Amino acid sequence: MTHKDPARLPAADVGHSAWRRRLALVVLPLALVAVPGATPANASAPTGPASAAEALTSGLVAGTAATGQAAGKPRGNPRAYKFLSQSKPTDLVARWNPCTPITYRVNLARSRKGALKDVKTALWRVHQATGLRFVYKGTTNVIPFAKPGYSGDYPADTHLVIAWATPGKHSTQIPADAGGLAGMGGSWWTGAYTRTGRPASRITDGFVVLNASMRLPAGFGKGNRNGWQGTRGQLLMHEIGHAIGLDHPRIKDRHEIMSPTMSRKKAVWGAGDINGLRRLGTRGGCLYDENPTEPAGPAAIRVSSLPRQVPADDRHEARALP
Ligand SMILES: [Zn+2]
Repeated sequence: MTHKDPARLPAADVGHSAWRRRLALVVLPLALVAVPGATPANASAPTGPASAAEALTSGLVAGTAATGQAAGKPRGNPRAYKFLSQSKPTDLVARWNPCTPITYRVNLARSRKGALKDVKTALWRVHQATGLRFVYKGTTNVIPFAKPGYSGDYPADTHLVIAWATPGKHSTQIPADAGGLAGMGGSWWTGAYTRTGRPASRITDGFVVLNASMRLPAGFGKGNRNGWQGTRGQLLMHEIGHAIGLDHPRIKDRHEIMSPTMSRKKAVWGAGDINGLRRLGTRGGCLYDENPTEPAGPAAIRVSSLPRQVPADDRHEARALP
């Protein structure tokens, strides 16, 4: 499958409630994905969030062999998974705090019939694999990475927004020359601590933007034999997978939902997907903004201390990979 090089995108403002600082986002071309400079802040710099974005392309093929889906045991290579925050194995694995629900809204404009049902089913599948809880807060007119004239501001009660965008019109994530680009997903993260005081990375916000011009079959079946490969369900599982911290696996494996190209297959997690999802879920334990093993100190001193300085150049990076 030919990969489409994402264009360098201008800085954009995304998702802030009152306590969220404005995020200057830079989408780096594919070739920079492995550059250490694009790695997230670790817990030694707890005020330095980072983010990443990934894209999924849909293959356009004329006829593929049908592949049966074995019931029960997941298919594929159990090692075929990767984390969005890891450019190298020693980088921290950014994940959501499994001890609080992830609130989400869906922008149903430009979506097609049954879209919300597919979103909820995809999130239920993520829940089953991770234990993470998702709470639907309703619809929204927000479009992540909104183009001028559209809102990119997340409501204060929302951590994840899923939206459809017309190429070149609504979101910088889905450019005019989107071609086979079916969607983009990603997340922002910041430094945190585990219960035992070890450094960790906590995902604070996520996004999914889907190409409204790409008409994929609804649901989670195998999809069409001809034309665009994959289904809306497969696409949603993939992009939400990015939003909760999975990357495309380094090991090529078409059985994985996180494979960078959609294909004709039932939309079920592969063996590698499941192993990655487990590590991003409740198994890792709660995350904390302050080190829970350090004494909190007298409350009066904490209250009277000066507010923490926010760096003037508070840049956050997003990475794109078709
Ligand atoms: Zn992807």
